[in-house]
Amino acid sequence: MTEPIIRMENVNKWYGQFHVLRDINLEVAAGERIVICGPSGSGKSTLIRCINALESHQEGTIIVDGTQLTDNLKKVEQVRKNVGMVFQHFNLFPHLTVLENLTLGPVWVLKQSQAEAQARAMQTLERVRIPDQANKFPGQISGGQQQRVAIARSLCMNPKVLLFDEPTSALDPEMVKEVLDVMVNLASESGVTMLCVTHEMGFARKVADRVVFMDQGSIVEQNTPDAFFDHPQHERTRHFLDQIL
Ligand code: ADP
Ligand code: MG
Repeated sequence: MTEPIIRMENVNKWYGQFHVLRDINLEVAAGERIVICGPSGSGKSTLIRCINALESHQEGTIIVDGTQLTDNLKKVEQVRKNVGMVFQHFNLFPHLTVLENLTLGPVWVLKQSQAEAQARAMQTLERVRIPDQANKFPGQISGGQQQRVAIARSLCMNPKVLLFDEPTSALDPEMVKEVLDVMVNLASESGVTMLCVTHEMGFARKVADRVVFMDQGSIVEQNTPDAFFDHPQHERTRHFLDQIL
């Protein structure tokens, strides 16, 4: 078997006294699509933030694309180059245009020329179906469009892994679909490894190879989407699904 692109082994993390991640063991194969769900406060954001070292862990091992995450900043930089993240609240730079948001990383981090970065940015905006918004500022476009810009911005960095933290939960209902559609297309057209925290079950059934359910800092169960939703094994999972379905 080939080495997984992400390997978390016996990972434990505390915020002060609070034990937020408990003995997390998770392996993700290159190209795999994982949906992570679970009640609010169960540690989903913390788990994916550990994968690109936005949070540090105290115990256990996290290896991303062959690089072990430690306090070594060079290694953190190396991992972040390969791992993109899309946040609930978009986190675009408000004072930069859409196009500038997309070219900043490629120019400064990947050392692309302005012309090259702009050409790639425009192609990526076509891909998320908003090339016409290139010269606007984030505050001038809708939430759904801003989130598609955020996805495009991640893609411009050529990530091997894309992390999504509830990318549609801050959106007005009518904008959820346009963002999910972009994510579904991304999954079908690219080989990028995706880990997505979401409660969008339609998306999970369509795209996920595996659904991981977390509760109180632990991975309680994981399964293929159909098995997970139709035959949950644990009482806590059933309770959770009763509340969201
Ligand atoms: P989820 O994304 O599943 O809602 P989080 O990973 O955001 O859960 O948070 C898990 C728990 O850790 C919550 O109880 C939250 O209040 C707590 N927590 C999150 N971030 C911090 C922090 N920086 N300091 C202290 N506690 C935190
Ligand atoms: Mg969260």
